[in-house]
Amino acid sequence: MTTNDARSAFYANLRDNLDGLREQGLYKQERIISSRQGAEVVCADGRTLINLCANNYLGLSGDNALVADVATAAEQYGYGLSSVRFICGTQTVHKELEKALAEFLGMEDVILYAAAFDANGGLFEPLFDESDAIISDALNHASIIDGIRLSKAARFRYQHNDMADLEAQLKAASGKRHKVIASDGVFSMDGTIAQLDKICDLAERYGALVMIDECHASGVLGRTGRGTHEHHGVMGRVDIITGTLGKALGGAMGGFTAARREVIDMLRQKSRPYLFSNSLAPTIAGTSLDVLRRLSTSSDLRDRLHANTAYFRQAISNLGFTIKPGTHPVVPVMLFDEVMAQRFAQRLYELGVLVTGFFYPVVPMGQARVRVQLSAAHQRHQLDAALAAFAQAGRELGLID
Ligand SMILES: *Cc1c(COP(=O)(O)O)cnc(C)c1O
Repeated sequence: MTTNDARSAFYANLRDNLDGLREQGLYKQERIISSRQGAEVVCADGRTLINLCANNYLGLSGDNALVADVATAAEQYGYGLSSVRFICGTQTVHKELEKALAEFLGMEDVILYAAAFDANGGLFEPLFDESDAIISDALNHASIIDGIRLSKAARFRYQHNDMADLEAQLKAASGKRHKVIASDGVFSMDGTIAQLDKICDLAERYGALVMIDECHASGVLGRTGRGTHEHHGVMGRVDIITGTLGKALGGAMGGFTAARREVIDMLRQKSRPYLFSNSLAPTIAGTSLDVLRRLSTSSDLRDRLHANTAYFRQAISNLGFTIKPGTHPVVPVMLFDEVMAQRFAQRLYELGVLVTGFFYPVVPMGQARVRVQLSAAHQRHQLDAALAAFAQAGRELGLID
């Protein structure tokens, strides 16, 4: 084979694999939006859709006050740092945000990352080695799984949300030096809230640490929006919290890890996505500070979010759809059949509602669904219009009477 043939074979192989994805219906197509993110979005084809699939829980992604904050922060701190944190990329605004996040979460200290994916990816390797054990929920987010893979610690996996199996895995890991239980605070496909009180009890009994990923919980759960630990009354009993600035807390991007001072200190020394990747943009840091201030002075947005969630959950059930029960603004509307889930999402799109169909392998076989996500930004008339579209599409496809 000549070099050129070898290169052609590489590209031909990629094209085959891409065709394979298309044939299996697994090829992801991006919808192009020409407006801000919000309760409604304008697509590049000019259509306005009611948006039920953003992680924009508090409706801040397209918020005017935040857009003004960006300009203010840019004026003072500039556009970017052109540096990692430890060379010349740490500004006062980064330290202020780390302090404010630590206070908000009720933790000693915080380290910022460019994304929660990086926070999880760079968490385990500096803290745990081959003498240690990581005990992980089977449905944890991809970034936790990748982060665990990068560490040398022994891996134990427990059945999703199964406390008996968690206990069995803790027993199996009993010979290890340090043990840490890792779980999503909220599982995004089901809206399931981890049984963090029970996890903390088991951790105590077996001498393990607790780590939770709060990407779908920070700003959403708990009386003051601090997250799953507040929701379950276990603030102070969780060792490590990771989370994102890219969902409820403003929606731009950025991630963080919160923990005791010595953990954060070590991550600043050794965590590779922190050491070898650019500083969080100061505009995001400054704007996030304002988001935290807003959340601590008023519960308006969270109240609206939960009122919208309760309203939608009740109304969609009344229509005869099957949903996964719960209280989280993630509302899985179960279609079970993979083809039906895609047809249903497509029909809703034609009727002016943006939702995403999820099917195998993202969710288990026979558990296909459209996932609705509520936002504080939704107005009642928008939810009612969306519900009317669900009713029409449901009747047309024979899903409800
Ligand atoms: C979205 C999400 C992430 C990734 O967050 P980014 O800040 O976008 O990288 C990590 N973990 C969970 C559970 C998530 O839902």
